[in-house]
Amino acid sequence: MLKIYKAFPGGKHKVLTMSYDDGKFADRRLVSIFNKYGIKGTFNLNSGLIHDGIRIDPSEWPELYKGHEVATHTVTHPTIDRCPNTEIIAEYLNDKQFLESVMGYPIRGHAYPNGSYSKRVERIMEDLGIKYGRIVGDYYADEYVVRQSKSECGIDVVGDTNGFAFPENFLEWKPTCHHNHNLLGFGESFKNLKKKQYLYMMYVWGHSYEFDRDNNWELMEQFCEMMSGQDDIWYATNIEIVDYMEAYERLQFAADLSFVYNPSFQSVWIIVNDDNVVEIPGGSTVHLI
Ligand SMILES: [Zn+2]
Repeated sequence: MLKIYKAFPGGKHKVLTMSYDDGKFADRRLVSIFNKYGIKGTFNLNSGLIHDGIRIDPSEWPELYKGHEVATHTVTHPTIDRCPNTEIIAEYLNDKQFLESVMGYPIRGHAYPNGSYSKRVERIMEDLGIKYGRIVGDYYADEYVVRQSKSECGIDVVGDTNGFAFPENFLEWKPTCHHNHNLLGFGESFKNLKKKQYLYMMYVWGHSYEFDRDNNWELMEQFCEMMSGQDDIWYATNIEIVDYMEAYERLQFAADLSFVYNPSFQSVWIIVNDDNVVEIPGGSTVHLI
């Protein structure tokens, strides 16, 4: 019997992704750093806050965020689980529609504003075609309230994983770390992971304006330089990861594993017997023996 392992594009076993919120002017500088080093990210934008004088004008988005992902962050950034259902629906749907009208592709990702989420919110998101939601770290001032109210209610405390594992539920996607929390340390560990028995994800989140506030742009520059050009790392936006995992799940293996059919449009990669990287192009059947 063959041994089949799931792999990322090209047979890679690690993925790096970034997630930055609020679409303020400093995104320009952040995107230019990502582009310089081939790092991919997701930018979570609020369509209702674009006229406050501190955010990038939508006319600039398609060019600026090209090659990255634009995702919803709701229209007005409420602590979403405090809102009634109709308000939640409007916050998601109107943001999604506006972002789609600017970007020209389906918007299917989300970062929870103020980190607020619940099963009720997740159900609504799913109905609106939103595939994942990013939770936020637990040590930033404006998120303490959310965290406390959650733990008092006995619901999971939000937070970062401080690790490289995948979420069980992409609608409750915990990042590895905020960029101010041991970024270079985590980056170094991630880079040095050579064991191929597991798939690993490093997920960094934050706000670009924090680099201006903290005067530490060199931190992100150094991190991106360190992580760039690695043969075993896939550089992906959030939604590319979700879509890839879904395409993998759709693979149809023969019971004896002698062949596999990929019903999706995109290619999926597997590792056969530990070191044989096999690409299964979209719509094709590949014989493994
Ligand atoms: Zn935000």
